[in-house]
Amino acid sequence: MTDEQKWKFQCYVRALRRDCRTPLPVRVRRRKIRPAEIEEIGYKVDGFTDLSKDGKFIWLILDQTCSYSTLIDCLIHEWAHAIVHPVYKHGKMWGLAFADAYMAFDREATRLRKEKGGC
Ligand SMILES: [Zn+2]
Repeated sequence: MTDEQKWKFQCYVRALRRDCRTPLPVRVRRRKIRPAEIEEIGYKVDGFTDLSKDGKFIWLILDQTCSYSTLIDCLIHEWAHAIVHPVYKHGKMWGLAFADAYMAFDREATRLRKEKGGC
């Protein structure tokens, strides 16, 4: 990931924190997803959400090896899980949360483009 992509990623995380409230604080981490985690989930994923062991915050784990565009897709997808709580899967509430998260991302992307003065 380039420095600009890292900076944009942080901007998107800040925008999601500001605009898409979650029931618990979210901690975002990019790291390798362990084989045991893939086995537990049942299939290969680029990220997942989980409650911390003490139940005080939500982990949002994103695969450090995926491309920048996949990373952003995954951030929005997983943030929607954090909004409705990680125990809920892809239902109506998650879909509505995903729309909110996507709109927050899109507003921030538009702001960043205007700030940069182009494209
Ligand atoms: Zn999901």
